[in-house]
Amino acid sequence: MNALISVSDKTGVLELARGLQALGVSLISTGGTARLLQDAGLPVTEVAEVTGFPEMLDGRVKTLHPMVHGGLLARRDVPEHMAALRAHGIGTIDLLVVNLYPFEATVAKPGCALEDAIENIDIGGPAMVRSAAKNWKDVGVLTDASQYEPVLAELREHGKLSDKTRFALSVAAFNRISNYDAAISDYLSGLQEDGSRALFPAQSNGRFVKLQDLRYGENPHQQAAFYRDLYPAPGSLVSAQQLQGKELSYNNIADADAAWECVKSFDTPACVIVKHANPCGVAVGEGVLQAYEKAFKTDPTSAFGGIIAFNRALDGATAQAVSKQFVEVLIATDFTPEALEVFRAKANVRLLRIELPPGGATDWARGRNAVDVKRIGSGLLMQTADNRELSIDELKVVTRLQPTPQQLQDLLFAWKVAKYVKSNAIVFCKDGMTMGVGAGQMSRLDSARIASIKAQHAGLSLQGTAVASDAFFPFRDGLDVVVDAGASCVIHPGGSMRDAEVIAAADERGVAMVFTGVRHFRH
Ligand code: 5GP
Repeated sequence: MNALISVSDKTGVLELARGLQALGVSLISTGGTARLLQDAGLPVTEVAEVTGFPEMLDGRVKTLHPMVHGGLLARRDVPEHMAALRAHGIGTIDLLVVNLYPFEATVAKPGCALEDAIENIDIGGPAMVRSAAKNWKDVGVLTDASQYEPVLAELREHGKLSDKTRFALSVAAFNRISNYDAAISDYLSGLQEDGSRALFPAQSNGRFVKLQDLRYGENPHQQAAFYRDLYPAPGSLVSAQQLQGKELSYNNIADADAAWECVKSFDTPACVIVKHANPCGVAVGEGVLQAYEKAFKTDPTSAFGGIIAFNRALDGATAQAVSKQFVEVLIATDFTPEALEVFRAKANVRLLRIELPPGGATDWARGRNAVDVKRIGSGLLMQTADNRELSIDELKVVTRLQPTPQQLQDLLFAWKVAKYVKSNAIVFCKDGMTMGVGAGQMSRLDSARIASIKAQHAGLSLQGTAVASDAFFPFRDGLDVVVDAGASCVIHPGGSMRDAEVIAAADERGVAMVFTGVRHFRH
């Protein structure tokens, strides 16, 4: 059996080569790899000896030769193929070990020059990988160091690789070169004249890896699966570890993401309860227990069967409190042994552990998907994520009445929450908790009415609350509804044709109003 080894990243290759040699496999290798193996005392034939050509053009041409590709592509079960090999003195290559020039790592470096990028486009490597992967029935192809150990183990046990293994290796190999080519295409089609990279390249090659099949989609008659980005951002939902509970459903995952992204945006201990993609309770507290109790109070009816997320570890006392309600998914940065004990008796509850990414909440917001994608018929819309964080000095008080420091805090809290509520969003808040959430209505007026009706149903008084509206009030009527309900201060972007009318109404009603100059539509 002959193996050709040609790797840029030499991690683990010595152990692999030693293992192969011990099994009697003959080793062929390219320049740098051959030297490494020879230095370790392994017998290696250089590719240049096999091809009868020196490696040339700064390594651009090393293995691009019939002596190599013939040995990879010949079908062992076709007599004419084998006769051709014999006629030309070509030996078979039965195992190929290749990893490619580090193109992705090279272009990820800030200020990478085009020439550097181009030199790091591997030509011979992908060509060999394609040849071997196409001929998977006869050739095993390794493209990742994680495959070395299991392949060696199988060879030790059975003396050869099974069809199943070779096919799986072939699929992995085609995926690898497809991702590699996509990275090259992304880089080149996003390159601008000044050398910088466009956020939205001329062609987009989104790459996703399946995490799991799902039982069904948004509805039982829809099929579904869950994918992650090829290179996910740290602290994203896709890195969650499920500690217990039923399998996650499509809707669970969508809601869990909404809850996690919202709770991540707070620095202090916070709790977010989500139903149907909208927060129905958000609160910050001294600790997670207080945050949960406040968040639950917003709308106990909707919280039933909700998805609950914490930006801290869940302790036993909070777990006790949460376990009194019906909960579908519970997310926290960790679970204490006492908290796990509480849910041991409730085996259906899905517990997800996700580590917060390094940095503070503002960095986490910035670290969200650089680009948001929305699918439309045969196309997609892309935009940078809505990760705009507002600082207090951006606020413009437009009324005669100034908000008190406490009101300002409530306004900023309400504004943060409104960003995660589907438009039109109206959010009443007080003392670091939501008091009424109006979401997803086609009219802002209806969202305002719904928010106050919900507060009534929950038995909450809206007197002295702060209200956030994700976009400006086009008329004074929306403002009148929230003030009638008890609001004492309001935050919204401003910028309407009728700002003057709305400001006059706020002055007339004796409430403080601040403009953000920023809008947070979410559809
Ligand atoms: P080495 O360090 O062994 O000299 O080179 C290993 C690298 O060369 C591997 O990443 C492999 O994919 C790449 N390679 C192998 N054959 C060729 C070739 O003919 N042309 C180019 N450009 N790269 C090759």
